[in-house]
Amino acid sequence: MSRKPAYPTQPCADCPAIISMYPGRKGDRCRSCSARRMASSPEHREAVSRSTKRRWLDPEASHKLRAGIRVANQRPERREQLRQAGLKAGPDRARYVNTPAGSPARILANKRMVDTKLRWCPREYRPLYSYLRKVKEIPAPEAKAIVLAQVAADQREHQRTGRLPQTDRLGVSA
Ligand SMILES: [Zn+2]
Repeated sequence: MSRKPAYPTQPCADCPAIISMYPGRKGDRCRSCSARRMASSPEHREAVSRSTKRRWLDPEASHKLRAGIRVANQRPERREQLRQAGLKAGPDRARYVNTPAGSPARILANKRMVDTKLRWCPREYRPLYSYLRKVKEIPAPEAKAIVLAQVAADQREHQRTGRLPQTDRLGVSA
């Protein structure tokens, strides 16, 4: 049996866990209590959110992050983990996971996902958004800004003329 160095111990400030007061320890909480505390601090969350966004908006950094996630997701244990998470997410999700692309369940699941992710985008503008993303390959934040600018422009035109430009455009493209 190896002997651990005998640093003084004391209970965590928030729970009964005994923590070792090794030299250089910051704070007097156990790992999970200090994590919970940081997660509930608006300033801390704001700082984390800012640095995460900055990293993901940097094309080079986000390319690396994506590549890393893609590689990590190929590991058998990770694939199994994802599969289990899918099954746990409920019968709807399980049906979706186990059905082939193009099947009604997949089409429905996709429609629901789009409804959730594009809640900000009025229905009449979804063809425009999808054109910007898929045909023009414009990144999501820019495509969203373009669509919202179009919505604002259409609202101004509607106030001026009483016409609904978005409906006219749909009529032409249909
Ligand atoms: Zn604790």
